[in-house]
Amino acid sequence: MPTPVESGTSELRDPRDPRDPFDVAVVGAGPAGLAAAVTAAAGGRSVLLLDAGERPGGQFWRHPPPAPGSAEGEDTVRVHHDGARFAALRRALAHHVARGRLTHRPGHQVWLVTRDEDGFLIESTPVHPGTAPVTRRARARALILCPGAADRQLPVPGWTLPGVMAAGGAQALWQGQRALAGRRVLVAGTGPFLLSVAGGLAEAGARVVGVWEAGSPRAWASRLPAVARVPAKAVEGLGHVATLARHRVPYLTRTVVREVLGEDRVRAARPARLDAAGRPGPAGDEVPVDLVALGWGFTPSLELPLQLGAATRLDADGSLVVTVDDEQRADIPGLWVAGEATGVGGAALGVAEGTLAGLSAAGRPTEGRAARRLRARIAAHRAFARAMHLAHPVPAGWSDWLRDDTVVCRCEEVDAATVRAAHDTLGADDARTVKMLTRCGMGWCQGRVCGLATALLASHHAGRAPTEADLAATAARPLAFPVTLGELAELGDEEGGFGGDAVGAGEG
Ligand SMILES: Cc1cc2nc3c(=O)[nH]c(=O)nc-3n(C[C@H](O)[C@H](O)[C@H](O)COP(=O)(O)OP(=O)(O)OC[C@H]3O[C@@H](n4cnc5c(N)ncnc54)[C@H](O)[C@@H]3O)c2cc1C
Repeated sequence: MPTPVESGTSELRDPRDPRDPFDVAVVGAGPAGLAAAVTAAAGGRSVLLLDAGERPGGQFWRHPPPAPGSAEGEDTVRVHHDGARFAALRRALAHHVARGRLTHRPGHQVWLVTRDEDGFLIESTPVHPGTAPVTRRARARALILCPGAADRQLPVPGWTLPGVMAAGGAQALWQGQRALAGRRVLVAGTGPFLLSVAGGLAEAGARVVGVWEAGSPRAWASRLPAVARVPAKAVEGLGHVATLARHRVPYLTRTVVREVLGEDRVRAARPARLDAAGRPGPAGDEVPVDLVALGWGFTPSLELPLQLGAATRLDADGSLVVTVDDEQRADIPGLWVAGEATGVGGAALGVAEGTLAGLSAAGRPTEGRAARRLRARIAAHRAFARAMHLAHPVPAGWSDWLRDDTVVCRCEEVDAATVRAAHDTLGADDARTVKMLTRCGMGWCQGRVCGLATALLASHHAGRAPTEADLAATAARPLAFPVTLGELAELGDEEGGFGGDAVGAGEG
């Protein structure tokens, strides 16, 4: 069988047959994508694994480059949660790469996927291109998308000041670069993830002055059966609580950041208590800080599934997610989706879903005892995730803390008054119309930061609950990453570009 190829690359492996596709392409080398790729390769399929990250592991197994003199992977078990599982996946990855079954292409962002009668066309560019950007085109008969999720944000007065960051960003800076984004830190928002961030930063040497949690632990009381199904999560949570106790970090519940203060950077934050309806009360006293790390959960990255037209639904946390069946298949033939893109639920769920997707895409049995155990694990983690989402909702009255001049869309500098005026004076009562009239979500980040707020504000002003269409208005992007006009033009010039007659793996 000829070796599968990619195009437009110095690594064209079999110039004799540029049409031979990979059996399976996987996008994303986080917990879900790694598991999917090694499972499909173990099933005898030729696999291409593409990831924007330079090193495998995604958001969860983020790690600094190896220290000089130490080998890649030495840190794995020591540094990471569930490091043994990561080590096993990395070993499997190396094993399949060495045997030529798996092509791992790190540092490549996939900006477009299309489908024709022969399968999928995957366009990617290096994250750090040399002098001439190169689009690499690959073909695959089956595609498993595992693009993960990004930090979810809500605007608050002062959130554009330097020193206000996404909680995940502050954690990633420490985990990936060993850089502390601040010394006197406030962590706020909602969900157990705040505990992990606060604990990690405290262990790293920051003075964490508080965790302000919008929810209440009491909300878990009626959801204990879901916790009992995944005891490891409870143990992990207790570990974080112990870390916070050791560092004497105050943990306030039903409390939010009402306002961030500062002139050219963060100087302080003011809290507010939430009432029973989730509405913030008056701002309390200033708490001096130099970093405010905000986290409201995660927003699944749906650019690629939406490019292909995959069906979606609203999850319990209000996120737009891809609808999949009990083998992780989306409603597009040949497409599987796993991990956060099918519902935010953590790394262990991602690994289980990725494994199932890899089995299914490789045509391996998904009915035996092992597969049944896998499905049971997925069901338990999904039940836990649902409980977590319901226990930590975005406060119903969050928009009360906005002022007229609070920026909602940072890229286009659209403030809350402008968003409201789009409804009150121009009649916009859905997120898409708000976006078109105000440019909210049309800037550099393409709604990745302001998308949720835009959808929630649009539906709030219209006096109804947010819909799938509101969320999709800022989640769908024609290109998943910016590319040069030259790259776009080349794609259009090609026979087969944008879904015409495909040339398979011809030069891209
Ligand atoms: C900062 C942070 C800390 C977290 N801490 C915890 C924790 O303590 N406990 C816990 O259970 N969960 C935690 N989570 C959640 C956990 O990381 C996720 O549940 C898990 O990583 C999901 O796995 P995944 O494979 O779906 O996605 P990810 O791990 O996000 O991996 C997705 C991968 O896809 C790549 N990608 C996306 N789009 C493209 C594209 N177009 N082209 C190429 N590559 C692409 C990304 O670069 C990334 O490497 C944390 C998340 C974050 C962001």
